[in-house]
Amino acid sequence: MPYRFTFDLSKVPRFFFTEIATVSYQKGMHKALIKKLQEIIVRFRIQEATGLNLSDSLVVLQDLIDLQAINMIERSRFLQTKKRALFLPHCSRKYMDNRCKSIFDASIPSYTCAHCSPDCSINKADQLAKKKGYDVYLLPGGSCIPKILKTNRYEGIVGVACGEEMKILGPLLSSMDVAGQAIPLIKNGCANTIFNMETLTKVL
Ligand code: SF4
Ligand code: SF4
Repeated sequence: MPYRFTFDLSKVPRFFFTEIATVSYQKGMHKALIKKLQEIIVRFRIQEATGLNLSDSLVVLQDLIDLQAINMIERSRFLQTKKRALFLPHCSRKYMDNRCKSIFDASIPSYTCAHCSPDCSINKADQLAKKKGYDVYLLPGGSCIPKILKTNRYEGIVGVACGEEMKILGPLLSSMDVAGQAIPLIKNGCANTIFNMETLTKVL
């Protein structure tokens, strides 16, 4: 399920994400956290950069922090896993129409990237993850995930998606005792979305 608003943090300075990671370590100090988030929104001009109002900005930042905190908690368990998969969102493909040559297999269910465009983020992520031994799924939506997890006994999952989709994936992985790492989209909108390749490389 998408956010009810769109945002684009891809032009926000990299230091913003370092700040988010730092704040994640302080998670639990809720009153202080909200104040800190408001400071970050002002300091990085998030409302001007994204067009979001204050409450939507807070939602996005809170989700980024929650995901970062979960990543940190899960990291050591994830590093011990051997059989892993990467879930990529179809909305980050270079093309959303028939110029994308990926093939959908309903029996999995997943697309397989055909590597038609060297500058497509999905292509780069797919090749990177496969070199590291991951199975890669290019998903039209989170509803495909339960079947994939039931068919394949993965120990670790890296998921790229917007924060809202991640909220669905998290409990599912916990219930199946699968260690997860999340890469949130930094530009949402269900088409031409963006995730940070450097972050993905580090997490993989
Ligand atoms: S590189 Fe893969 S995901 Fe990207 S447009 Fe081509 S087939 Fe689709
Ligand atoms: S932004 Fe992408 S991951 Fe999020 S709901 Fe839309 S299609 Fe799914």
